[in-house]
Amino acid sequence: MNTKITLSENEIPEHYLNISYYLKKYLGKLPDPPLNPVTKQPAGPADLAAIFPMELIKQEVSLEEKIKIPEEVRDFYKMYRPTPVFRAYRLEKFLDTPAHIYFKYEGASPTGSHKLNTTIAQAYYNKKEGVKTLIAETGAGQFGSALSLACNFFGLKCQIFMVNVSYVQKPYRKTVMQMYGADVNASPSNLTEFGKKILKTNPNHPGSLGIAISEALESVVKTKNAKYSLGSVLNHVLLHQTVVGQEAKRQMEKAGEYPDVIIGCVGGGSNFAGIAFPFLTEKIKGKKKTRLIGVEPASCPSLTKGEYKYDFGDTAMMTPLLKMHTMGSDFIPSPIHAGGLRYHGMAPLISFLYDEGLIEAKAYEQKEIFQAGVDFARTEGIIPAPESCHAIKSAIDEAVKAKYEGKKKVILFNLSGHGLLDLNGYDKFLHDKL
Ligand SMILES: *Cc1c(COP(=O)(O)O)cnc(C)c1O
Repeated sequence: MNTKITLSENEIPEHYLNISYYLKKYLGKLPDPPLNPVTKQPAGPADLAAIFPMELIKQEVSLEEKIKIPEEVRDFYKMYRPTPVFRAYRLEKFLDTPAHIYFKYEGASPTGSHKLNTTIAQAYYNKKEGVKTLIAETGAGQFGSALSLACNFFGLKCQIFMVNVSYVQKPYRKTVMQMYGADVNASPSNLTEFGKKILKTNPNHPGSLGIAISEALESVVKTKNAKYSLGSVLNHVLLHQTVVGQEAKRQMEKAGEYPDVIIGCVGGGSNFAGIAFPFLTEKIKGKKKTRLIGVEPASCPSLTKGEYKYDFGDTAMMTPLLKMHTMGSDFIPSPIHAGGLRYHGMAPLISFLYDEGLIEAKAYEQKEIFQAGVDFARTEGIIPAPESCHAIKSAIDEAVKAKYEGKKKVILFNLSGHGLLDLNGYDKFLHDKL
């Protein structure tokens, strides 16, 4: 039996797979639309055109089943796609479980996570529509790194607002972004009116994704030929990530198995959507009963504890209102090391699926996820991002449960990124300083 299930470059998907098509066709309903914050009417293309290129706005509302991936984008994907699926034999043995555990390794991308899947596409569409600068926020720095590299590929300028606590915890992420030519600032910053206002109340504010989004949006409005780029939450970002699950589906076919459980960590929901949606289509059609589990930190539990309602995507209340599971747009999560999961809301698509009972959610404490990460590193060798450790912890729990139930169970999880720039957090865990 192979440990590593690989595909060739010509098996890189040719389309992004649009879950909205399946929801409409088989469930007969879709998530509630974003609303203009002033008129409270559904937000139209005009509401979004100031910050996104038209092609991405079209994708946001598309009901086509498949959206073709441009050849230029596929060419860049060839640098690291298809990513491998691994069978975690050593972890299975360590857990003494009858379960078969597989993971899709998105840490194999040059910047270390799945984020490049969307940034390459976003940079391409922006470039095509004459945009010169992309501006964005980043939490742990994974999205900022991926956007910096994609902008560099397509000759765009890149400005990043990095959440202050991560800026301090992960100084080398800043260096990575600067390597690719981006301009990086800790958020809250003195570059925007909103940042200045927050710094006045607390000069050492830890920052949050919500605040950094507000700063990025303010900057976009003030900068000529600039647009905004988002690393998660919106439909088009989740759409781009479906390359992950489409590949994984072929790889599981090659392995001769079909997953009973699919697991991903959830910050805004994009890597989970990426691995889950291409399998969810079968569940929506009633052909499979696969369980799909999104895993979040107990300190930012938007799915398991948040309210399902219309809320702002940012702290300054500038974005359209999104119907989502949310902790409230003024919620400041504690400074856990899984910076990519410190977001108050959740993708409207993921929130809708949770509300419909099509997916499940779990929340874990920081110490238990780091222990899972250490167990994984010691058995499988790869040092996982703290975000991804949430998925690992849940996969381990499912595998242990399978042992007590005496069931053979096939588990597939998304290893969304490596943790080689997150060693500060691991250091604290290993020396009992968390
Ligand atoms: C950004 C990030 C996440 C969280 O974002 P999602 O949109 O929920 O995927 C998870 N893991 C890693 C490695 C990340 O960089």
